[in-house]
Amino acid sequence: MHITTNNTIEGTAIYDLPDTNGVPIVADMSSNILAVRYQVEQFGMIYAGAQKNIGPAGVTVVIIRDDLLNQEPTLSSMLDYKIQADAQSLYNTPPAYSIYIAKLVFEWVKELGGLDKMEDYNREKSHLLYDYIDQSDFYSNPVVDLKDRSLANIPFVTPSKELDIKFVEEADQHGFKNIKGHRSVGGMRASLYNAFPRQGVLDLINFMQSFESKNK
Ligand SMILES: *Cc1c(COP(=O)(O)O)cnc(C)c1O
Repeated sequence: MHITTNNTIEGTAIYDLPDTNGVPIVADMSSNILAVRYQVEQFGMIYAGAQKNIGPAGVTVVIIRDDLLNQEPTLSSMLDYKIQADAQSLYNTPPAYSIYIAKLVFEWVKELGGLDKMEDYNREKSHLLYDYIDQSDFYSNPVVDLKDRSLANIPFVTPSKELDIKFVEEADQHGFKNIKGHRSVGGMRASLYNAFPRQGVLDLINFMQSFESKNK
C-alpha cells in the first residue's frame, strides 16, 4: 500500500500508520523525512527526494526491506533497486557534491540532539503558527482535525480571495517568499521545513498581526 506521509498541498500528515494486515507500506516521505520520527521497521519501503530536509535536489534516499528487493531484473537498471543495492548505491557515478552536503545536514541534525530534538523543534515552530491562526477570527486553517495537521506545511486563508492576493503581495515585499498556496487549493501556505528558523515563524506572525489590524 502506498502512502504519502506529508501532503504539502493540503497541509496534512499521517502520523499513525494504518493497519494493513501485513501488506507492506511504501511511503513517499519527501516532505517530512528527518522532521518527524517514524519507525523504519514498519515500512516495506521509504523513499524521499532530498530537496526539502536533506540537501540539494538530485539525490533520492531509498530504504527498502531486503526481502522486497527483486530477484530477477524487471526494470531498466536505473530503476532497479536490486542493482543499486548490490552495487552499494555506486552503480552509476553518484552526485558526490549533493551527497556531501547531505552528510553535513545529517551531522547538523545529530548536533542538535538528533531526530527527537528536531521533531520537538518542528512542533514548537508549527504550534506557534497554528495557535496564532486558531485564536484569530481573521485567519483560518482549512485542516480542522488537529491530528491530521502537518508540522511542515501550514495552509491558511483570510476572509476573502481579494485579501489573500493582497496578503501574498505584501508578504512578498516583506521577504516572505513563496507563501502563495498551491494553485489547486489557493490561499496561503507557510512551509516550515527543518532549515526554517523559529525566528522566521515569529516574524511571520508579527506580519500577519499587522496585516490583520490594517485590513480587518
Ligand atoms: C516535494 C515533494 C515531491 C517532489 O516534488 P518536487 O517538485 O520535485 O520538489 C514529491 N513527493 C512529495 C510528498 C513531496 O513533498
